[in-house]
Amino acid sequence: MVPSGLGASGNYEIVVFGVLMMLLLHRASSGLAPVLARWAIRPHRRHIALEAPALARRSQPAAGAPLLEVRNAAKRFGGLVAVHELSFEIRAGEILGLIGPNGAGKSTMFNLITGVLPADGGEIVFQGERIDGLVPSAIARRGIARTFQHVNLVGTMSVLENVALGAHLRGRRGTLRAMLRAERAEEAQLLAEAARQVERVGLTAQLHDAAGSLPLGQQRLVEIARALSADPTLLLLDEPAAGLRYAEKQALAALLRRLRGEAMSILLVEHDMEFVMGLVDRLVVMDFGEKLAEGLPAAVQANPAVMEAYLGGVE
Ligand code: ADP
Ligand code: MG
Repeated sequence: MVPSGLGASGNYEIVVFGVLMMLLLHRASSGLAPVLARWAIRPHRRHIALEAPALARRSQPAAGAPLLEVRNAAKRFGGLVAVHELSFEIRAGEILGLIGPNGAGKSTMFNLITGVLPADGGEIVFQGERIDGLVPSAIARRGIARTFQHVNLVGTMSVLENVALGAHLRGRRGTLRAMLRAERAEEAQLLAEAARQVERVGLTAQLHDAAGSLPLGQQRLVEIARALSADPTLLLLDEPAAGLRYAEKQALAALLRRLRGEAMSILLVEHDMEFVMGLVDRLVVMDFGEKLAEGLPAAVQANPAVMEAYLGGVE
């Protein structure tokens, strides 16, 4: 019973509303969107039809073919030149490392490729077509998938649900309709695809765990699985090893080697030179927005200008 002091019946609404608000604030401390997203996907989540027919895959370019060409890319922030006339290319099937001291302009270059930032000059060509000037979703649809420098998962959603968000890019019906279960058969396909990508990064045992409950190293793998579930031709990773412990870095490197073995092309933006050394095929070194060196890892590492940039850089 509600205490009699509340009086007239109209006050019940206030009590009920108050209790609902308290429940909401308690359950949804990170906002309503994750709750709604969970609600939309939940009915399927423990019944993944792994036998659902696989989604159509993109045709992949021949190994060694030019995949992404950056020509004289430029980006300024006010008076600061973050990227200055930078040119490099990524070939199909290789891991290219883009390294440099903090503040060198790596993330800015990454954001120019993904369309998050508009370039002030230059051209970016992907599979023979210019992509600079396109919005991020259009670039993603052409087959460029990315992870973020800071982990960007919905912590309260399961590993599977987070990865399924990436697979939705491949749905014919679009994210919203699929989320609203307008197309159940397709939703089953997308979840099956997401489960396959979770398996690919070695996290099947964590499939139904809340993404936020995993250690950082595993959260990074979830991000990679999410990117992979969009069936990319080029995978862009911004400092995936940052903050990881040694064993986690080893696991990440092993995954990236495995992906290269499957002919995935990868741009690895990284500050940690040691991490990239045994891993990448070629390196491009940036410093103060410009290309300082380019070539095979051993030659780049021995380059005195590179050593100086790293030793003199802001650590
Ligand atoms: P990196 O990823 O190599 O550490 P960034 O690309 O993040 O470097 O930054 C390059 C330079 O551009 C830095 O001096 C940074 O402070 C500056 N910068 C990056 N983003 C912005 C922004 N949105 N507004 C102003 N300056 C920025
Ligand atoms: Mg950065």
